[in-house]
Formats: sequence, C-alpha cells, structure tokens
Amino acid sequence: MWDYRSTSTEIKAGAPSVAVFGIGAIEQHSEHLPVCTDWYQVREVSRGVAREFNALLVPALPYSMSQCHGPAPGTLWLRPETLASVVRDVITSLRSQGIQKVVVLNGHGGNFVLEPVIRELNLTYPDMMIIRPLFDGGFVVADIFEHGDVECHAGEIETSLMLAISPDLVRATRVDHVSEVGREFFDYAFLDKWTPDGMIGISSAGSAEKGRRALDVAVERVVKATVETFAALELLRRDSSSAEAEA
Ligand SMILES: [Zn+2]
Repeated sequence: MWDYRSTSTEIKAGAPSVAVFGIGAIEQHSEHLPVCTDWYQVREVSRGVAREFNALLVPALPYSMSQCHGPAPGTLWLRPETLASVVRDVITSLRSQGIQKVVVLNGHGGNFVLEPVIRELNLTYPDMMIIRPLFDGGFVVADIFEHGDVECHAGEIETSLMLAISPDLVRATRVDHVSEVGREFFDYAFLDKWTPDGMIGISSAGSAEKGRRALDVAVERVVKATVETFAALELLRRDSSSAEAEA
C-alpha cells in the first residue's frame, strides 16, 4: 500500500492499479465530538480498504458539502461545483499516471454531487472504473447498534466510531436528541434551527467496542462490494470487446 508518505519512486516501482479516495467533512458534531469526525471516519475506512487492495491511498479530502450546518463555528464547506471540480481533478491526475480503478468513499451524507461527477467521469473515460461503494449509512447494523433507526448525526454510531478511532477527542458531555422532523429538513433550514449543535441520535449509547466492530464491518462490506463491482465491470468490457471482434 502507498500513501502520501511514500516517495514517487516507490509508487512508480509498486505500480498500484487501484486508488482509494475518501471524502470527509469538517462540521459541528454536537458538544462531544470534534468537527473532524466525518473526516477521521472516512480516513480510517479508506486505509482499511486500501490495505486490502494494496492500493494507492489518496489523502482523504477534509471538506465537502456541509452548507446545512452553515454558521456553526468550525464548520467549513465547499460549494457543489467546487467539490465536483476537486473530485474531477484528483481522479484525472490518477488517470494520467496510469491508475484506472478508483474507489471513492463518501464519509458525509450531503455530497449529492458525487453521483453525477462519477457518472460523467466514467462515461468520459471508458478506460476507467470509478466506483462509489456505499459508506455513509452503511454502519446502521442492527446487531451492533440499538438506536440506528433514530441516528442521523453525532449519535450512537458516530460516537462509537470516534471512541474506537480517537477516544482522546471525545468529550464527556453527551446530549441525546431525537429529531421531530425528517432528513429532508437538511434541505430546508440550517441544523441549528432544529437540533442542538447538530445532534440527532442517542450519543449516550455509544461505545468503543461497538465502534470497532462497525469499522471492521464497514471495511469488509466496502471490500466485498468493490471486488464484485470491478469483476462485473470487467465482465461487461470483455463481453463488449468480444462482440466487437465478432462483428
Ligand atoms: Zn458525521
């Protein structure tokens, strides 16, 4: 596996065929979690996945579309067109060095622009396979978490993940809050209007043990989905090139 600490010479010698590119977010996460929560989570899962594929681990992007948290101190956001441009440029630079398979891991629920940009890149560069196995929400595993159904932000799931990744960053105060309105309100009003500091879920139920299990499951699921998706795409290509040869 290679990452930003590798030399260019080492990466050239290793010639990785797969790159893993995580997208994080810097935004409020209630009173007890740091603003880097989404970024740390996606970095952790990306590293686990990159290890499995002996891939080039691209530094995860810290910021993305956190506009709905608006003026909450510490929150930073990119406009959708900025995020689209960054993703396009990072993937194009990977292509220019011969990497054709890219796994994009989205660590933040509001990044709707990833779908069209990934679709556009795949159709523009048919030599590439850029996939986006589900990452956000993939943690809602009934046998690990008790309150996954009311989790939206900074609750049992995210608290557990951060207790597993970086317990030193988790503060002692835990606020529980179940939202009275649905997820669509992310599109209608800043979160501070309808949640206490972006809190939606049962943070008091979080534990490091649950977090560790969830991280293992997340890596396992993303690896499985990646293997299956690349295999299906390879099959599609083989079928279409043999059909062309016959014609
Ligand atoms: Zn989060």
